[in-house]
Amino acid sequence: MYSKAQTDIRSLTRAELGDRLTAAGFPAYAAAEIFRWIYRKRVEDFGRMTNISRPHRAHLADNYYFSTLEKARRFRSADGTEKYLFRLADGPAIETVLIPEGKRRTLCVSSQVGCRFACRFCCSGRSGWKRDLTAGEIVGQVLSAESPATNLVFMGMGEPLDNLDRVLKAIEIISDPAGIGLGRRKICLSTCGLVQPLKKLIALSPSFKIALSLHSTDEKVRAGLMPVSGKNPLSQLVQVLESWTRKNPGALTLEYLMLAGTNTAPEDAHRLSRLARRLRAKVNLIPCHATGSGFDPPPPVEQRHFRDELVGRGIFATLRRSRGEDISAACGQLGLSALKPS
Ligand code: SF4
Repeated sequence: MYSKAQTDIRSLTRAELGDRLTAAGFPAYAAAEIFRWIYRKRVEDFGRMTNISRPHRAHLADNYYFSTLEKARRFRSADGTEKYLFRLADGPAIETVLIPEGKRRTLCVSSQVGCRFACRFCCSGRSGWKRDLTAGEIVGQVLSAESPATNLVFMGMGEPLDNLDRVLKAIEIISDPAGIGLGRRKICLSTCGLVQPLKKLIALSPSFKIALSLHSTDEKVRAGLMPVSGKNPLSQLVQVLESWTRKNPGALTLEYLMLAGTNTAPEDAHRLSRLARRLRAKVNLIPCHATGSGFDPPPPVEQRHFRDELVGRGIFATLRRSRGEDISAACGQLGLSALKPS
């Protein structure tokens, strides 16, 4: 157990830890050493940090703790995808998905318990928002995956821009070369599109990738699918993103859930290709999954035709193969297991 006066050491960037330790009389190199112990050697006991002096180890034990994520369940899909259900120290559960593909292992992490934006096709929003995850709990998901991730996507439960400061801090920790050292180009933050936090993020010139959950280029259709877009219209999102993508071509992906009878008509493909060109973005087409929301994917031949329309107009578009659907780990399904009793 830890006391309220203690700080979760995995919620601190190396610079923050360094400032605190310097003030407590530690040598300048201590924060980097401690980062190596925690993130490379995966040590969770200050007593084992043998190149830190004994009094300094005692100081660490008195003032810091390690947040815990209890791996309550592990699901394995027939296609190799793994899903972890983590129980947080105060009780709620979150889900994290590891998707292997050749040499690539993409980890999909959660940023909140639940979500407040209630997109119609998504399970995570159905039970509402419970709380934000701490930076340490986000970092903990990366450390708890059973094989190291080569790529990281913020596409799990929650909206990362609704917990932006902690997500940015977690990205700084995860990409720190003294620790996990995952390159920022291997990290992608996916958002439903919140104008103000997106402005704040773009002003910081992020070096990681961004994915916008688009799902329709028609404001009315999009508002019907994603209530959040009422106050965050696409026209404003495009304005904010355009300045960034001009300097970072290819760093934006437009995520497009294919919903039969809703957003896959030829005029949808035309508008989508115009927008992708304007934003210098790739398009990721995702046939929708069973989430109990009443939407169905279009037939495969229609999916391919839609993709070919985009490709024919010079857009880099991929049709994503569904992964982990048998363990409710696919896009829009996270939260199903967290809601079910184990
Ligand atoms: S799609 Fe994202 S923003 Fe929408 S409800 Fe699900 S988690 Fe929230």
